[in-house]
Amino acid sequence: MAGQEHQRRQRIVLFPLPFQGHISPMLQLAALLHARGLAVTVLHTGFNAPDPTRHPTEFTFVPIHESFPAELLALNAACEAPFRESLASLLLRGGQDQDVACAVVDGQCYSALRAAHQLGVPALALRTDSAATFRSMLAYPRLRDAEERLDELVPDLEPHRARDLIRVDGSDTDALCGFIGSVDDAMRASASGVVINTFEGIEASELAKIQRDLSRPKFAVGPLHLLSQASVEQGLHAPDRGCLAWLDAHPPRSVLYVSLGSVACVDRGVFEEMAWGLAVSGVPFLWVVRPGMVSGGGEEVPPLPDGFSEEIRSRGKIVSWAPQREVLAHAAIGAFWTHCGWNSTLESVCEGVPMLVQPCFADQMVNARYVTHEWGVGMEVGEEIEKGRVAKAVTKLMVGEDAAQVRGRAHHRLQKQASAATSLSIASLVHYISSL
Ligand code: UDP
Repeated sequence: MAGQEHQRRQRIVLFPLPFQGHISPMLQLAALLHARGLAVTVLHTGFNAPDPTRHPTEFTFVPIHESFPAELLALNAACEAPFRESLASLLLRGGQDQDVACAVVDGQCYSALRAAHQLGVPALALRTDSAATFRSMLAYPRLRDAEERLDELVPDLEPHRARDLIRVDGSDTDALCGFIGSVDDAMRASASGVVINTFEGIEASELAKIQRDLSRPKFAVGPLHLLSQASVEQGLHAPDRGCLAWLDAHPPRSVLYVSLGSVACVDRGVFEEMAWGLAVSGVPFLWVVRPGMVSGGGEEVPPLPDGFSEEIRSRGKIVSWAPQREVLAHAAIGAFWTHCGWNSTLESVCEGVPMLVQPCFADQMVNARYVTHEWGVGMEVGEEIEKGRVAKAVTKLMVGEDAAQVRGRAHHRLQKQASAATSLSIASLVHYISSL
């Protein structure tokens, strides 16, 4: 039968890892591809399942498994069979609008990349971290023996020192090498390309090196949150929007926003030093105190240190989840004390907000090093979190000569480059997908 309604539409099948920092960029990419005519199916786990009502009604959401382990090797093992079965059943269903053009799989989910490839479905790997992290991961096996040279710059990975690259909390080095090796193998053997949530303006040389080292097409499609202009928060938790009205009552650039993202935890002692450091600094603050963020404290919102409520009454606000992008865009925000998750880093870069960096694990050390030493838009809070040092670092970043320079770079250089990022890469990605 002739007619527009019977035209076969190309469908992409997306599979994010079930964590906030991975789900958001995947769904932002989905929105961009959907806006360019591709049909979207999202395979997802029952654990941290996305809410379909917050996305275009044309998106199809298919749960593939009830729950998954949080550890990445176990997660890869657990998702391989359910992913393969779901993708195979989508292929079998075939029909009018089910031409699967390709799968877009989280770059850390090597088992799903492999499964898609084995089923004959071209697979693209989405890196939800930076180009620098991607490169440093690929270099990890040769870095693991560099423990004794922690402070030396790593050749071809400058500005990183070994200490920025090899710290992964409590993880056994062999298991980590095994994981990274599998990611690398799947990337080279099973992926038809890599899609990275970054942009030339901040990572041009890293992207050029990836082009050189990896014989796969690469697409730098970021900053995805900015380009997708997603009006809805893709957060797994409901944000406390009351903090926006609280910010309205503050002068421009006077408030420090504090958040360690959705996963990082700190010891009780560090939590208390953070609190008293904020108190001693005298700076107004908005602090995300997330349930479960203090190790060993269960899933409860951690109790504040005795006597700290007085500080909050006078010049602080605590929420358990913030509408972060709106907070960072608010004129009252002067700086962001962050764990340097890649999404938080990009969101801060795009709003021109200087950062106080407290990396905790995974790619956060790499991002922190870029913030402080490559882009010059942040300062370190210090290895040891102690209230006196915290207060000093906060005041240094919020007021004074250094603060003005850091803010100038964040605002005039980085933010301008971010707002100049275009969707040209998305257009070439769509073109590539239709050629697969
Ligand atoms: N986020 C938020 N509200 C909060 C804390 C975090 O909306 O109170 C969002 C933040 O905007 C970012 C994501 O959660 O998009 C965290 O991702 P990131 O990569 O920064 O860190 P992760 O949570 O993966 O460590």
